Amino acid sequence: MSNKDEAGPSKKPNEQNHPPRSDSTEREEVAPSPSSVLESIRANLTHLFSRLSVHQEPPAGVIPNLTFDGFLQHWKDHGFKKIITLVGAGISTSAGIPDFRTPGTGLYDNLKKYDLPHPTDIFELDYFLDNPKPFFSLAKELYPGHFTPTPTHYFIRLLNDKGLLVRHYTQNIDSLERIAGIPEEKMVEAHGTFHTNHCLECTTLYSKEWMKDKLFTDTLPLCDHCGGIVKPDIVFFGENMPESFYNMPTEDFKDCDLLFIMGTSLEVYPFASLVGYAEPSCLRVLINRNVVGKFTSPVNKRDISYVGDCDDAVWKIAEALGWTAELQALIKKETGQFEKQKTKSVSLKPDSEKSKQTKDKNPK
Ligand SMILES: [Zn+2]
Repeated sequence: MSNKDEAGPSKKPNEQNHPPRSDSTEREEVAPSPSSVLESIRANLTHLFSRLSVHQEPPAGVIPNLTFDGFLQHWKDHGFKKIITLVGAGISTSAGIPDFRTPGTGLYDNLKKYDLPHPTDIFELDYFLDNPKPFFSLAKELYPGHFTPTPTHYFIRLLNDKGLLVRHYTQNIDSLERIAGIPEEKMVEAHGTFHTNHCLECTTLYSKEWMKDKLFTDTLPLCDHCGGIVKPDIVFFGENMPESFYNMPTEDFKDCDLLFIMGTSLEVYPFASLVGYAEPSCLRVLINRNVVGKFTSPVNKRDISYVGDCDDAVWKIAEALGWTAELQALIKKETGQFEKQKTKSVSLKPDSEKSKQTKDKNPK
């Protein structure tokens, strides 16, 4: 889940930065010899002095003007070809979805009614197995379909429509990317999804509609085959992230020339470690309400921060590129469709929606 600072939901933090080690290497790390420690300090100091040396010509920045305006100008003049987006809760706040941590309005603050020993327990697997009710009440509140995607979601969809999006990595579990029409194969939903559900005992797959029916009739979702508890495929603290999170970045980031980091303060690992995959030639643009420490380095050659609202930033980008009308038309077309679908799902609920779920195994 998207809010534990030190320990993310996975047991494999920063795996990509640490290739598998041989036993001998591990032994060396347990008991390094004094000379190897000195050697390592010497190497680090040499590296540091070489970076600080006033005589050294600073390496050129990825673009000549490392500001948001400079970035817009560069995009207009030269374009970008392979874009990756990394996003967090900040891209969904304008849709009305509470951020997890904002004091007063954050999700964790609103969990008091569930009387949890600690708010994050709602996403702890052990706690869930003992008492699944708080999670299911929350799931009902957050269930996809109640919220409309934001201009930022549609901007990312537009990047995909233009053939520029390599991959969208999201920490969000609100499904707004899917609703905005970003294809499933273009996404890595690092913290899981409500679109599929599995029995925790016998692993039978259940459809979104099956779960929705249970949630909205306040029925505890129990497996039709074995009576085990059925859980949406949201990644809890005790669980691993999806395989795609580990398998895809290496290839995805190879030729990526622009990395957007939107609506996240990069505090949650291992998700935040994805920024480290970007090649030195890749421009990294952070769009967030708060400044993020690692994007303010004095020797920065390829990082730009836009401190503010994600939607404001994407409208500025769209304007600079002459995409405003296109983005507006896409939003109008899609939100029109979305509103219609919502109405439809109220009036002719099950059949019209079941047809979209043909891939899911229907347990009945
Ligand atoms: Zn089962």
